[in-house]
Amino acid sequence: MTGPEHKCGVVGIAAAYDVVSALQRSLMIIQHRGQESAGISVFDGSRIRTVKDNGLVQTALDHDSLADLRGCIGIGHVMYSTSGPQSVIDAQPFTVSSSFGSVAMSQNGDIVNYADLRKHYLSEGMSLLTDSDTELITNILVRHLAESKDPVRALKATVSETEASYALTVLINGRLFGIRDPYGLRPLCIGKLQEGHIIVSESAAIDALDGTFVRDVKPGEIVEITADDIISHGGPTDLKQKAHCMFEWVYFARPDSVIDGREVYDVRKRIGEILARESGIDVDIVIPIPDSGRAHAIGYSIQSNTPYEEGFMKNRFAERTFILPNQEDREAAVSTKMNPIRSTVEGKRLLIVDDSIVRGTTLKKLISMLREVGAKEVHVCVGSPPVIAPCYYGVDMKSRDQFIANKHSIDEICRIIGADSLNYISIDGLVEAIGKPKNELCLACVNAEYPTRIPGEKERFQSILNARFG
Ligand code: AMP
Ligand code: SF4
Repeated sequence: MTGPEHKCGVVGIAAAYDVVSALQRSLMIIQHRGQESAGISVFDGSRIRTVKDNGLVQTALDHDSLADLRGCIGIGHVMYSTSGPQSVIDAQPFTVSSSFGSVAMSQNGDIVNYADLRKHYLSEGMSLLTDSDTELITNILVRHLAESKDPVRALKATVSETEASYALTVLINGRLFGIRDPYGLRPLCIGKLQEGHIIVSESAAIDALDGTFVRDVKPGEIVEITADDIISHGGPTDLKQKAHCMFEWVYFARPDSVIDGREVYDVRKRIGEILARESGIDVDIVIPIPDSGRAHAIGYSIQSNTPYEEGFMKNRFAERTFILPNQEDREAAVSTKMNPIRSTVEGKRLLIVDDSIVRGTTLKKLISMLREVGAKEVHVCVGSPPVIAPCYYGVDMKSRDQFIANKHSIDEICRIIGADSLNYISIDGLVEAIGKPKNELCLACVNAEYPTRIPGEKERFQSILNARFG
């Protein structure tokens, strides 16, 4: 549907001092949201200047490359791509110069009506260098700016054309805005810094800069920050039913971040507790799949009174297994990434807790490794319900045929991955752990009901609509 950028991290800082180093540090804190490229744009008093490159923040934005960048207001981006390193032309922030001045934009999310919008604007003569939805929105914004000469009106006109999902930080000359789609699919929050303000994907970055969390950007809201102030410019009038992405809490966000009022670690621990309540397996020890399964396993251990042990050593420098193109490479990469700790495992009845199963590759390989070092029994609990439907909103789960739960029953999956038992958390259990009303969450990848209209897919609350309108 769109180009290479998907789940990513965004930041913007306005302060009474040069913000380049604070932007770079906050991008390091949200590095887990994307490792393919990183970039920073700052307004230097007369124009926007950008440094971006492929690689981790430390390499892409090293000391030398940032040496000449100066400004008291700026934005940044880390990119996750589904297919490994991209051309640097795809890296963000995207910048466009116009008669009104310069614009830079960072985006997290995927615009679901991208194809229609792109077709429309290409037919109107817009020229685009990439197939990125961020480049398209930046150019649409510049068109609206040329018409209205008013940044807030231009932003409102732009977002009224774009369907979810997006969390944006936008620099228009020397003004900085943060915008969240009307469903609140992707996270975005505001913090107070010493003589400044920050808008960022995750609150952990505010803590790292010794700032104070102020609040989340509201779904649909356009917020402007300056060194001294937070100004809300409201948002679209047709506010949608909220749909916060459940996967942020289950897997994607840092455990120390607070998203829409719920701390990620606490949610994961509660998922573990509920898994223990729902499955009740009798084992000798509980071990996590590091790192994202850790809090889930702690919750399980506390609730079930079963000892918690580390059963795997994770190699932090190994490549990402999830995006490798073929099954053999993915399986081989799992053993480069994880190694069992024999003394914990040998002769024991184990329960392993992971955040999710997509293709089943990781668990199948890990269970066989545990058996090789003498595990007596290997039971599995999973912190999200079976993933059965694609995500169109920025998380890298794009096609139905990759999901093992689409082709097999839970008993079959248990046999395929070689486990003694397999239990997923229920949808209601997950909602209880997140602690928000079910109708304020996106659960589309586990219940196939989408908060936005997607051709060929069922809309959320379809049964209610059918009952009401026949
Ligand atoms: P799989 O091996 O295909 O079953 O993938 C499941 C593992 O990949 C889990 O342990 C997750 O931690 C991780 N994972 C789940 N969803 C994603 C995603 N969208 N992108 C990257 N990793 C993921
Ligand atoms: Fe999140 Fe799943 Fe919804 Fe995508 S479909 S936004 S991963 S809950």
